[in-house]
Amino acid sequence: MRVLMNAGPWLSVPPRGYGGIENVVATLVPPLRDLGVEVVLASVGTSTLPVDELLSVFPDGQFSALQRPYNQVCGVAQAHMHRVVRALRERDDIDLVHDHVEAVGLATMAALGRDAPPALHTLHWDLAKHPELYGGFDGGGRVRVNGVSASQLARAPEALRAHSVGHVHLATPLATGADRRPRPTKGDHLLILGRITPGKGQDLGARLAHEYGFDLILAGPVGPYHDPADLPPDADNPDARYFRERVAPHVDGQRVRWIGTVSGQERDELVANAKAVLAPLRWEEPGGTFVVESLALGTPVVALARGCLPELIEDGRTGLLTDDENELAELALAADKIDPAECMAEAARRFTPARMASQYLELYERFIHSHSCNRVDTLSYGVGSRALP
Ligand code: UDP
Repeated sequence: MRVLMNAGPWLSVPPRGYGGIENVVATLVPPLRDLGVEVVLASVGTSTLPVDELLSVFPDGQFSALQRPYNQVCGVAQAHMHRVVRALRERDDIDLVHDHVEAVGLATMAALGRDAPPALHTLHWDLAKHPELYGGFDGGGRVRVNGVSASQLARAPEALRAHSVGHVHLATPLATGADRRPRPTKGDHLLILGRITPGKGQDLGARLAHEYGFDLILAGPVGPYHDPADLPPDADNPDARYFRERVAPHVDGQRVRWIGTVSGQERDELVANAKAVLAPLRWEEPGGTFVVESLALGTPVVALARGCLPELIEDGRTGLLTDDENELAELALAADKIDPAECMAEAARRFTPARMASQYLELYERFIHSHSCNRVDTLSYGVGSRALP
């Protein structure tokens, strides 16, 4: 089987720093290739992930172009998609497109003719976005979608859900062999790992840290700013305003610290040594990479039970969940009753790249088969989506 994996023009694969979708692609492709799938990666020239072939128009990631006005940036994703479409027209050896490019990837795949290969588009984000596209979506029997959690798909508009082949949870390379690693040594701090943005609720976590008396580290970027020293005091960006107005008043450098973006070993040690990773969510978390990473590193997740959290965390065994903001703080203080070994065992069982790849391969095979039998429209993939094994 040969799959065109479309990662888009924004960042290289793997990304050098922050990069959610590019990280998912970098996690998925190696075990897929181990299973015998040939991968043609559509990305940018600086991507270093080993693949069978790389397609690109841009020599490097175009992420910074997103700061420019619309009329200057609107051609970037289209130029990339045009390259993908040309490849699909010029060759007949692609069995399936696995697309990860927000909105434009889905719309372009749906616009291709009947003899184009089937396309599976992974929805990595909040499906309340793009209501006009998702609310009336028609994939012409050749484009299907999958989510990254059941709760994400359950909130999707009906027209999009009718195209769903189910969900595949996110994975992390840290989960491989996690059950054989020693328990981490725990410090006293709690950690919120993620972009500083209203949905992740750093303001609530920081307020509770002061009220209930626990130490809290905030790790993650504020908009494009990765280092506290680089954040201009008047940065005009929604996340920078959120940080300035709602989070920074609680950041005293002692009880609550913002340390900017962490990566590599520093990130892993920070997570492993945390008493718990805290998720005071103010949105329905769609996939939660930070959740599966925390478990893999032996750190329970203490969270508001929103979005995918109840699917990923077993309350009382791998973390603590509540619907109540104040109870969240009490649970944070009790996080050491969760056994890190249980968290690592769960990650090794459910969230490895190998497991994610075999789930996707099963989807690919079913989809290609049904498409080639020309039965795709009558299959009961259907509304509501089916949880994969
Ligand atoms: N991340 C990181 N360093 C940070 C903050 C976040 O490496 O300082 C990573 C985190 O480990 C995860 C990703 O960024 O792999 C965020 O993905 P997630 O699905 O948790 O959140 P999203 O930003 O996609 O909503």
